[in-house]
Amino acid sequence: MKRHCVSMPSSGHDVCRLFKPGLVLAVLLCFICRTGNQVEGAEKPVFLAGAAKVEITPPLGLEIVGNWNRPLASNIHDDLHVRCLALNDGTTTIVFAICDNVGIPRDVFDAARKRIDANAAVPSANVLMSATHTHSAVSARNERKVDGVLVLDNYQTLLAQRIADGVAKAVANLQPAKIGWGSVQEASEVHNRRWYVDDEKLLTNPFGGVDKVRMNPPRGSDKLIEPAGPIDPEVSFLSVQSVDGKPIALLANYSLHYVGGVPSGDISADYFGAFSEKIGQQIGVTDDDDSFVGIMTNGTSGDINNIAFREKSAKHEPYQRINEVSDLIAKRVAAAYTEIEHRDWVSLSAASQELELKMRKPDPEMLRYFASLQGDGQSNAGAHRLAAIYGERVNKIAEGPETSSILLQAFRIGDLGVLAIPFEVFAETGLDLKKRSPTADTFTIELANGSYGYLPTPAQHELGGYETWLGTNRVQIDASERISDVLLSLLNQLSQK
Ligand SMILES: [Zn+2]
Repeated sequence: MKRHCVSMPSSGHDVCRLFKPGLVLAVLLCFICRTGNQVEGAEKPVFLAGAAKVEITPPLGLEIVGNWNRPLASNIHDDLHVRCLALNDGTTTIVFAICDNVGIPRDVFDAARKRIDANAAVPSANVLMSATHTHSAVSARNERKVDGVLVLDNYQTLLAQRIADGVAKAVANLQPAKIGWGSVQEASEVHNRRWYVDDEKLLTNPFGGVDKVRMNPPRGSDKLIEPAGPIDPEVSFLSVQSVDGKPIALLANYSLHYVGGVPSGDISADYFGAFSEKIGQQIGVTDDDDSFVGIMTNGTSGDINNIAFREKSAKHEPYQRINEVSDLIAKRVAAAYTEIEHRDWVSLSAASQELELKMRKPDPEMLRYFASLQGDGQSNAGAHRLAAIYGERVNKIAEGPETSSILLQAFRIGDLGVLAIPFEVFAETGLDLKKRSPTADTFTIELANGSYGYLPTPAQHELGGYETWLGTNRVQIDASERISDVLLSLLNQLSQK
């Protein structure tokens, strides 16, 4: 794995630095006419950045999703937002739009794209949208079809509108800027949650079988053998400052599922929101400046949480761990921030591609097993406690579509690559993409441009466990490999431009 704590200048674009005299004119003209900072006759394009955050807090009374039970939202602990960062190199604009939600289906993002294209400030193909995966937001997944046409519910409609508004606001806020990036390693808050255990009772699955690994095994148990996969301890970050060095925005990426410890019924953006609010202060944003936008994106954390499984559970106050983790990560990023170089200009490019994946289908044996269960499923002798839930899911999948087309996206920001995958991606896939990437630094944002469940690697499918169960995972076994190949080919194409 490449680890770059301090980003190095991009040699390919240094030629632009030769044209300093054009800078002042270009900056002035850019302020006058924000739509065209590629000034005719001026030799040097000006780099621009703009940020915005728009509230997406739902009304109380809707179901909070992310766990097996679904309490109604009864309190707003902290507001939910879509946090947006727009970048422009004089020719190309790219935008990140990161939403506090557990997972947003493609239909909602596509509705946002329609509005973004109607606004015409930026082509929607250059906008990367994702969900942070806070487990304390209401659902954006409700599917309602009228005459076969999907109709968005009130909250989904609001979300699509607010995403488009946030993107428009970030683009309207574009101003001359400098850009830098770097990363820091913080392994203490990331643990692989899939374990080999020495107890068959811990390994039963809802399909009447036995897995080789167990998700979230009992803490501090003497049955624990070892984790079944790696962690990615890297916190990557991208920073933009005004030309005189005032922070505009900082977007970070860490492969941690979420933190939790939120009372039932509370709406909260989890540590993603807490980090976003804390990082400004850590890097010198003053209290009276509310224009700065912090952003935490989710990396590849489908099999990662922050439970130290070897240790017995300790008692924590509500929000205690969210505060501790967000404090730690903000401080670590702030320390690394002082080391990075902010550049006057880097080139930007974006590419995306549809990939058609086959949906997994239950085999006759699996269907026979569920058909053999009586009544509520789990009351059958030897049946798993989730047998009824998975029986229902499997029957639905049997009748569902044969294929699904997903959107994959890559951004190139100088010699930094950003990849977007619409699944809960395993850490080993993220590490593999970092290793094979043609750019010097790379990170992946998961749950981007859609939400299709977990994405285990073929080797992890062999081991079984919750994330691989049909109904938790839905797409062909080698999907992670097909996705990685497409993303790397997109990034290679962008790198050759
Ligand atoms: Zn989750």
